[in-house]
Amino acid sequence: MSKDIETSQKNNILIVDDTPDNLRVLSSMLVNERGYHVRKALNGQIALIACEKTLPDLILLDINMPEMNGYELCTYLKQKEKTRDIPIIFISALDDVLDIIKAFHVGGSDYITKPFYVEEVLVRIENQLTIKRLQKQLKEQNNLLIEEIEKRREAEQALRTANEKLQHLASSDKLTGISNRRHLDEYLHREWLRGIQEQTCLSLIMCDIDYFKAYNDAYGHQAGDVCLQQIAQAIKSALKYPGDLVARYGGEEFVAILPNTSLEGAIKVAQNIQLEVQKLKIIHAQYPSSDLITLSLGISSKMPSLETSPESLIKDADTALYQAKKEGRDRYCIARN
Ligand code: GH3
Ligand code: MG
Ligand code: MG
Repeated sequence: MSKDIETSQKNNILIVDDTPDNLRVLSSMLVNERGYHVRKALNGQIALIACEKTLPDLILLDINMPEMNGYELCTYLKQKEKTRDIPIIFISALDDVLDIIKAFHVGGSDYITKPFYVEEVLVRIENQLTIKRLQKQLKEQNNLLIEEIEKRREAEQALRTANEKLQHLASSDKLTGISNRRHLDEYLHREWLRGIQEQTCLSLIMCDIDYFKAYNDAYGHQAGDVCLQQIAQAIKSALKYPGDLVARYGGEEFVAILPNTSLEGAIKVAQNIQLEVQKLKIIHAQYPSSDLITLSLGISSKMPSLETSPESLIKDADTALYQAKKEGRDRYCIARN
């Protein structure tokens, strides 16, 4: 069996013509010459029923037919989603150019005038079938491509989310959920540079829980952890500006960075932190002079410059904190520049 016959056998052709002789001639020609599977319809209604039963790969359509003519049938088939893509070749005795143009306007793919040459009909049918096959391939490839793009988009989104999660994990403190020391260092350096560029003050507050060892000893390590979480949130809620950052600096030490904030502003924030901690009312019965958890705070404020380093801000705040401890705790001290 030749390849031509093999492929054409799969093709299902519907011939629509109201003249039985025409149907017979065309049908036997297509069956004998190419081995197509051919069905015949004597009018538009029968053609529609045939399409309903099995979609043809191609329709050969006469124009002059009673009730529903070829143009009307073609228009109807092109309006329906299911039959829209079936190539339709008009085959008609009408040879006026206007008739031919109309045939293309209503959606016809080709036009053959009667009387026809057998070879011409066969070639035109093969052409349409090839075009249809290629269009189908293209559509399938296109769908695969769309699927591929969608999959890739989803994978990229998942990667972005995983990255964000990872970044958050890498920059946050496990116990309290606020920033960790690593993120604090990065942030401090970034804000220091910004301060140099914009000539704005950078302030830093170092906070340390008073007598926390005694708290742990009295209430247990787990209660200590809860206390650390509460204090972290209290400090966070005392910071009002979007650029402010609170980080866990060490065991029971926290640092607040306040960009574009003068010493006066930083003092206000330190007082707010103390207020927020007071509001927590965490009982600490072992505290020598109070019975609630308190903080000592050291404040430093500088105009960033290339001559000094951001570490000096931390060092000065730490010295001020030490001073606050020395003076009796539960207070803030200001670093001397
Ligand atoms: P001071 O008022 O001088 O700051 O005294 P302190 O007891 O608060 O300071 P010290 O440095 O002597 O002790 C800090 C304690 O903080 C030691 C440890 O028990 C506790 N601590 C540090 N990290 C954690 C933690 O992650 N969880 C808990 N529960 N406790 C911690
Ligand atoms: Mg400490
Ligand atoms: Mg302490």
